[in-house]
Amino acid sequence: MLYIDPTQCISCSACAEECPEHAIFLDDDVPEPWRDFIALNAEMAEICPSITQQKQPLKSKPNRAE
Ligand code: SF4
Repeated sequence: MLYIDPTQCISCSACAEECPEHAIFLDDDVPEPWRDFIALNAEMAEICPSITQQKQPLKSKPNRAE
């Protein structure tokens, strides 16, 4: 699972538009059943290491860029 640091996010919405699973929302757009994840995301973003290099897509997922 990935977490987005809310102190670094500028709410440009680029990731939300590109996510093939439609799993990313801007804070104001998070559906009600998932709103508890806003706080969890912020908490986990503080303690998880940052991803600083591009990674290959998971092999179980089709390459949606093709
Ligand atoms: S791409 Fe996503 S995480 Fe990055 S600044 Fe834009 S909304 Fe925030």
